[in-house]
Amino acid sequence: MLVAGNWKMHTDADSARALARDVAEAAGDPEGVTVVVCPPFASLSVVAEEIVGTPVLLGAQNMHAREAGAFTGEVSAPMLTSAGCRYVILGHSERRQYFGETDEGVCEKIGQAHAHGLAVIACVGETLAERKAGRAEEVVGRQLARGLRGVAPGDPDRLVIAYEPVWAIGTGETATPGQAQEMHAFIRERLQEQFGPEMGRAVHILYGGSVKPGNAAELFGEADVDGGLIGGASLNGADFAAIVAAAAEFA
Ligand code: PEP
Repeated sequence: MLVAGNWKMHTDADSARALARDVAEAAGDPEGVTVVVCPPFASLSVVAEEIVGTPVLLGAQNMHAREAGAFTGEVSAPMLTSAGCRYVILGHSERRQYFGETDEGVCEKIGQAHAHGLAVIACVGETLAERKAGRAEEVVGRQLARGLRGVAPGDPDRLVIAYEPVWAIGTGETATPGQAQEMHAFIRERLQEQFGPEMGRAVHILYGGSVKPGNAAELFGEADVDGGLIGGASLNGADFAAIVAAAAEFA
């Protein structure tokens, strides 16, 4: 199981340090659960200092597809690894919606992240209109096909897929466990087609979208749900730790 906290554009250096400390203390060292926190770029270093010697791992929320260059305001994979990151979230729906990220761009970034030893949390998910039109699998299938074209993680730990229905992110509305499992099974099938049965089985598929302490266990109990990508609830150490504890029940 894997539980990752996406802090989005929240926390400054002091509050990020305090939250990292809370998470490390409250989450402990749960057997069989990888715990990742993804603060904003500006707080990566302070969080890295705070989690040294704990099982909590560091991730970033985005990166540029190139290694270096004249790309004002951007951050590269080697910068993330040097700040202590082991993971990077790519293709989050907010990046797609507000910053024009495409499946092809996400694919390029995944290659770059892997070239620098970063494990990728690649996000996919349909909008409410797409789900209502019966196109959820078509949309997620296309995101996977284009986003993972040519991707060869080698080690299943280097690729994590986060299924995040856009209509459930930050809305308080969660996919039912059945809806999540149905899409996760579909994603699993696609991963097995691309990477072979064993690798496809081993890649973690996270659910994201208003996961809270009260609904985490029922979601994590589904066969193909291997943990969660947590937004709002990751900003509270106790809530995030409760979600980690729910994941530990199924590890
Ligand atoms: C997210 O942003 O990845 C997310 C799942 O947010 P929330 O948990 O707040 O819905």
